Amino acid sequence: MIGVAVLGSTGSIGRSTLDVLARHADRFRVVGLAANRNLERLVEQCVEFRPAYASLADADRSADLQVALGKAGLATRVLAGPSGIEQMASLPEAPYVMAAIVGAAGLRSTLAAAASGKRLLVANKESIIMSGRLVLEAAERSGARLIPIDSEHNAIFQCLPAGGVLGSAPMGVRRILLTASGGPFRDWSAAALQDATPDQACAHPNWSMGRKISVDSATLMNKGLELIEAGLLFGLPPDRIEVVIHRQSVIHSLVEYVDGSVLAQLGSPDMRTPIAQALAWPQRLDAGVQFLDLLQVARLDFEPPDFGRFPCLGLALDAARAGGEMPAVLNAANEVAVQAFLDGHLNFGGIARVIGEVMNSWNGVGGDGSLEAVLEADARARSRAAEVVRRGAASVGSRS
Ligand code: NDP
Repeated sequence: MIGVAVLGSTGSIGRSTLDVLARHADRFRVVGLAANRNLERLVEQCVEFRPAYASLADADRSADLQVALGKAGLATRVLAGPSGIEQMASLPEAPYVMAAIVGAAGLRSTLAAAASGKRLLVANKESIIMSGRLVLEAAERSGARLIPIDSEHNAIFQCLPAGGVLGSAPMGVRRILLTASGGPFRDWSAAALQDATPDQACAHPNWSMGRKISVDSATLMNKGLELIEAGLLFGLPPDRIEVVIHRQSVIHSLVEYVDGSVLAQLGSPDMRTPIAQALAWPQRLDAGVQFLDLLQVARLDFEPPDFGRFPCLGLALDAARAGGEMPAVLNAANEVAVQAFLDGHLNFGGIARVIGEVMNSWNGVGGDGSLEAVLEADARARSRAAEVVRRGAASVGSRS
């Protein structure tokens, strides 16, 4: 029995992970479950999986969690607050950790799992974008095995030769082709896009996901973040990673080799496939997904991305080329802008304008790449982005 801690268990990836784990209860045991505030769903999950530990980042709700678990007759121990989640990421009883917290909030627990020699299933792309090098170095020191969960990066992982080292350029690879569905607005005009609503942005044509990543998919920032993530994980410069719009979301990404071979991973758009792949690697597990029927798919289409209608993709490419703290700055500004959009304080077009303004006026924290420097850049970029949102610069810009 392999013990697994699921961080972000109440979210979309967390629930898909528990679905796969439940299918293989003879092989995996859920040791810890962690979320932010969703006490009700966390308690339901604890009743079903009976973990030894549960955690809420919101320390104020932790006492309520302990009471609710006691009422349910469970001996589950509560590890309170963000430090409790870090502790859960390094539990000796859980050699496997799913990092599925959304946003920069997942950084410390991802790092803690990397430093503790875990099999680390990384869905939390923001932690890689902010400090991929630190995560990879910590994993190398501790012997942790990092497996990407993002469907594109998991596809690339599957298409690369076995035995490669994450962070260094794989032998014989010429390029990576990152596929993108294009999101819900792929056919919208630039003018219509400006005032798209949160519900429209979250109605993804192919994937069912949490709200933040759904908005990122709608702006194509998700693909930009993935481009940065791919560069860090696979040791390639941004100019050797090409984004290709592929509406059907059947090919999850491709690797082109110097001899002209192109390897791709295909499957139904269901995150349980990469999750099961990462849990079982190098073996395979039934993931409970619908198998791909190529005759029903019938055709696979490819188009270049439109950088004009989707400026977030260009901003991410700029951040990837700039390197240093710029990816963390981009990520922080994006998180603030997306939240403001979801809260109704910013229009859709304003997301890219806020991020662009923060990046253009960035004068650096002069950091050395340490965790402290990354966190300082993150905090400064957040406060700058919040100021831009408050000033209403974005909405003024949208009218000009
Ligand atoms: P969701 O919004 O569905 O879930 C987020 C999870 O993180 C919830 O469990 C939430 O808890 C928890 N959480 C939020 N804030 C905090 C915090 N401060 N501390 C601790 N836990 C927190 O997100 P997704 O599952 O969609 O995405 C998770 C990650 O996976 C993201 O980084 C995303 O980019 C990545 N990803 C997602 C894919 C998908 O298909 N959904 C595909 C590829 C990558 P609570 O419920 O209590 O708020």
